Amino acid sequence: MATIFTRIVQGEIPSYKIAEDEKHFAFLDINPIAEGHTLVIPKKETDYLFDLTDEEMADLSGFAKMVAKGIDKALNTIRTGVIVDGREVPHAHIHLIPISKHGQKINLGQKINVSEERMKEIAQLISNEVRS
Ligand code: AMP
Repeated sequence: MATIFTRIVQGEIPSYKIAEDEKHFAFLDINPIAEGHTLVIPKKETDYLFDLTDEEMADLSGFAKMVAKGIDKALNTIRTGVIVDGREVPHAHIHLIPISKHGQKINLGQKINVSEERMKEIAQLISNEVRS
């Protein structure tokens, strides 16, 4: 059965899409820990990130870097942090966490509420920067 992230890539499940290329997709995490919390995935289904080939890892890192730079510009961050967990969704993914304040904790256990309207707005802001 397709993973929930494959179903997002295929458009079966809606997402706040940020960017995609032939092999990768980026979208906002639906339960963010910071405004602009983004997930970057390879379209190919692989459960464990470190089971990707060296080439797939390098490609995914390049795509994640492009998205992170877009987040930095769009949200005027101090920088963007990275978390890899992967125990909830068995489809390799990298969490990109915008860091906007000194002392901000990045912890996947600390979800925040972001309205649907703001999620749409943020996705558009980041998407515009990734494309420019
Ligand atoms: P983990 O597998 O622990 O790295 O976490 C998976 C992440 O995927 C969690 O932060 C979830 O909030 C996120 N997530 C699960 N379903 C969706 C969805 N439909 N759209 C966006 N993010 C999701």
